[in-house]
Amino acid sequence: CIPDRTNLCSNLSLATQAVQTKSTSSSNIPFSLETLTLDGYFSFENTHHAAKDFGNTNHFHPSAILYPKSVSDIFSTIKHIFNMGSTSALTVAARGHGHSLQGQSQAHQGVVIYMQSLKEPRMKIHTGELPFVDVSGGELWINILHETLKYGLSPMSWTDYLYLSVGGTLSNAGISGQAFHHGPQINNVYQLEVVTGKGEVVTCSEKQNADLFHGVLGGLGQFGIITRARISLGPAPKMVKWIRVLYSEFSIFSRDQEHLISIENSFDYIEGFVIINRTGLLNNWRSSFNPKDPLLASQFNSDGKILYCLEMAIYFNPDENNIMNQKTESLLSELSYIPSTLFLSEVSYMDFLNRVHLSEIKLRAKGLWEVPHPWLNLLIPKSKISKFAQEVFGNILKDNSNGPILIYPVNKSKWNNKTTFVTPDEDIFYLVAFLSSAMPSSTGKDGLEHIMTQNQKILNFCAAADLGIKQYLPHYHTQEEWRDHFGPHWELFVKRKSTYDPLAILAPGQRIFHKAI
Ligand code: FAD
Repeated sequence: CIPDRTNLCSNLSLATQAVQTKSTSSSNIPFSLETLTLDGYFSFENTHHAAKDFGNTNHFHPSAILYPKSVSDIFSTIKHIFNMGSTSALTVAARGHGHSLQGQSQAHQGVVIYMQSLKEPRMKIHTGELPFVDVSGGELWINILHETLKYGLSPMSWTDYLYLSVGGTLSNAGISGQAFHHGPQINNVYQLEVVTGKGEVVTCSEKQNADLFHGVLGGLGQFGIITRARISLGPAPKMVKWIRVLYSEFSIFSRDQEHLISIENSFDYIEGFVIINRTGLLNNWRSSFNPKDPLLASQFNSDGKILYCLEMAIYFNPDENNIMNQKTESLLSELSYIPSTLFLSEVSYMDFLNRVHLSEIKLRAKGLWEVPHPWLNLLIPKSKISKFAQEVFGNILKDNSNGPILIYPVNKSKWNNKTTFVTPDEDIFYLVAFLSSAMPSSTGKDGLEHIMTQNQKILNFCAAADLGIKQYLPHYHTQEEWRDHFGPHWELFVKRKSTYDPLAILAPGQRIFHKAI
């Protein structure tokens, strides 16, 4: 053991099981926190909302919630807990917007920091040759979009849904249809301010404290709390041409997707999804898309088939209409989709990026947003994607799915391999996201148990067929699984933990390390 390692060996015990229980304990209320002088405040009552997330299947009750007003509130709290050493079991979870799936932003009997109440720094946009915006780690991406658009600027890489926090997505990756070109969100950050697990405030970038910078990006909150991020910006377009086409053959669909992400001057956004057993599909699209050929489209029958939808978008300004149309025609002419299924739409850039919010509003109105979400997100190497599709779409899920299934390839060359994030070991890999919703108390095919069994079947198949996949937004139960996930990067991961959070105070909800007391 090197010195840091010795520290680690004695202070950290690696989680071998999910040991947390689901009750609130009054015996462990961290009264000593009340002695801290803060700009914000602690709440020791009404903490139940911090024991809930979007996944809605894990509920770990904290002892306290910190509503920080300043970075000093965060480092004072962490420093205080760090100084208590292993006499205290207190852990700390930053909560961005709580859109985790398995309790990752929760802290059993610990302290949850509501990052959205951190109001410093105020969002500040810097124009010029390399424009950027400085934002608080708790800022939501939707607010960044609104603000930067006022300057004709925008971040380049997004997630499909914008009511997520900067700290939350940068702790994972932040992947959407722009990632094939711009890389994930963790590749589009110039600088971070981080409060480590020792209560130190550190500014880091590619050039300054680079190890912490790379560690924190995709670092699952293990090495520090992001209190400020400097995000790169580019020119924002005004409009988006949004296109959908269908395929019935997976091999042709994936060939076209891979073609589009490999050429110069391609679309600005490329995604895709799988459609299982849906009737009247194209009719549903008509509310927001227009068929290129209405007569042919009306004759298309989607019933009972597995179909693959390629979704593309091209950005433009109103005075570039002709060039945009020519480019669209030219790119579409290189594809082999079912001709009658070409659907097009034109929307504002804001409406395009904020598209999932419309679904959220509809689902909330029906009481279907707050249901359990047993999501499974996988990264699959290109060479294994057809085998995966054959078994998963053709067998495991052949009759039904309980929500959208996204599938699209990205280029590994656009990912910075120095960050903590691990990808499959091939130049192109696919993101496949099973975004299921479970009906509360159902014991049928739309129930939580059935969906979780299907997810497990998918994972078992991937392991048995040795597909070399990685989980995105990973969730494991044992140290062995985490080791496998990080592979050769595990040693570095553990070393960084021992350097920046030697007592394992931070992000206990990831269940990688367990604070020793
Ligand atoms: P939280 O759930 O609050 O936190 C996630 C983790 O990060 C926790 O471990 C937490 O402790 C830690 N954390 C939070 N803030 C900080 C901080 N400031 N510093 C350090 N650690 C911190 N992901 C994609 O990549 N692409 C998508 O298209 C996409 N779409 C989604 C759509 C929906 C409807 C939902 C619910 C999720 C989606 N996600 C997507 C997943 C999303 O990126 C992650 O769940 C993300 O963690 C959620 O952000 P959050 O701010 O709610 O994080």
